[in-house]
Amino acid sequence: MLNTMGFKNDILDSLISKEDIDRRVKEMGLALTEEYRGKNPIFICVLKGSIHFFSDLTRSFEDYCELDFLSISSYGNARKTSGIVRLNKDLDMSITGRHVIIVEDIIDSGLTMNHLTSLLRARNPESIKIVTLLDKPERRECAITPDYVGFVIPNEYVVGYGLDYAGVYRNMPYVGILKSEVYGDESTEV
Ligand code: 5GP
Repeated sequence: MLNTMGFKNDILDSLISKEDIDRRVKEMGLALTEEYRGKNPIFICVLKGSIHFFSDLTRSFEDYCELDFLSISSYGNARKTSGIVRLNKDLDMSITGRHVIIVEDIIDSGLTMNHLTSLLRARNPESIKIVTLLDKPERRECAITPDYVGFVIPNEYVVGYGLDYAGVYRNMPYVGILKSEVYGDESTEV
């Protein structure tokens, strides 16, 4: 149920401010520029959660690059991944022989990224690296280690800066922790 007082009333606390996100994303963009200079990498946006991160990160990348988008779903409206990943929209470009940078919003169990990297490796890119804004390493269920991490966060369900719960909150400019009452009966699942 949407709160008639507005979505800010659903947020328990801000976890990462807009200023901290801006600063860290710029740093990551510059580090990627150093690593990929002259390599014309393909940045892959994993829709929908990484839209804002992808947009800011690629604008901080100061050399030639190409951008492509794919859409997967594994979460639905719940807070736990099923581990079953569905590809809703594939890439438009071929990645064979190219340097690929996967841009993800958050890595939790790692199952989604595990599935995605297997899928993309089968297309024989020159290299694949994983960049994630947020990482919850204590929740990992498989051997996935991102190459670039914006922020390591505790085991809390977060929303904002692209991340949703039940389809909303993606437009918040910062990352916040949702009040547990927003989950209702589902709160015992995580
Ligand atoms: P994993 O497969 O690593 O468990 O889950 C990855 C996906 O689960 C993310 O792309 C994201 O959609 C969702 N997810 C995991 N943790 C959170 C969280 O704290 N907040 C939100 N909004 N989504 C999450």
